[in-house]
Amino acid sequence: MVYVGVDVGATYIRVGLVNEDGQVINKVKTRQPTSGDENTVANVIIKSIRDLTGWGGGIDGIGIGSIGPLDLREGIVPWAPNAPIKRFKLVEPIIKEFRVPVVLGNDAMAAVWGGEYLFGIGKGISNLVYITLSTGIGAGVIVDGHLLVGKDGNAHEIGHVVIDVNSEIQCGCGGYGHWEALGSGGANIPRVIKEFIRGGRSYGSRLYERLVKGEYVSTEEVFQAYYEGGDELARDFIDNYLMKVHAAGLASVMNAYDPELIVLGGVQWPLITWIYLEGGELKNT
Ligand SMILES: [Zn+2]
Repeated sequence: MVYVGVDVGATYIRVGLVNEDGQVINKVKTRQPTSGDENTVANVIIKSIRDLTGWGGGIDGIGIGSIGPLDLREGIVPWAPNAPIKRFKLVEPIIKEFRVPVVLGNDAMAAVWGGEYLFGIGKGISNLVYITLSTGIGAGVIVDGHLLVGKDGNAHEIGHVVIDVNSEIQCGCGGYGHWEALGSGGANIPRVIKEFIRGGRSYGSRLYERLVKGEYVSTEEVFQAYYEGGDELARDFIDNYLMKVHAAGLASVMNAYDPELIVLGGVQWPLITWIYLEGGELKNT
């Protein structure tokens, strides 16, 4: 049996052929198209599957993990805050093309189920949460061996819990003070660190000088300044602000889902090696 696994991210669309044991036979990565209509993303996936299989035959099913939020009944992403094309179809055009079962889930749902519960570090652990700290913050949740889904597939959109009710920082979803808005990469940390220095304190820091001049400082640069240069502002921001944001988010996860294990993934780098919660077990993937 040969299956296709698709990962629709904010920046890349990855398509892989996998066998029953979850081993990747072949894969291809394409940049998210920057413009197009609601079929453009599906067309990229269809082309990738054709490229991988030669002609698109011989596959037994297709599983898609996508950035959300999702509308599972329609099989679409109705409004993706972090992707260039905001609204796109996933299920219908791909079923039409290949005539095999297509299963859609949020990317973090796919990660917790396939990546951790069936084949990964969470094998056999029936209360398990996978969190991605990336361009956005998402989670996949298994409670008592059941994958949480919800009416539209958003039962675990934990990136949108409110961390700060007084925050004026708006999330991509429209709300304010959400974990994702305050703590995720992409455009969020650059905005948050600008707000952070408004408190009035000044720093002997190159990062601070650049921000005061109105320069754009990326998420990567904030972390680089922290790890390479020991920058005073980067240290204060990450140690005394960002860590609290993540700790508050993780505490909400623990209170909401009562997991035995939380697996952290995504690209918020070495940061994840030193978050810890008392009484909770965190593992770095
Ligand atoms: Zn939000």
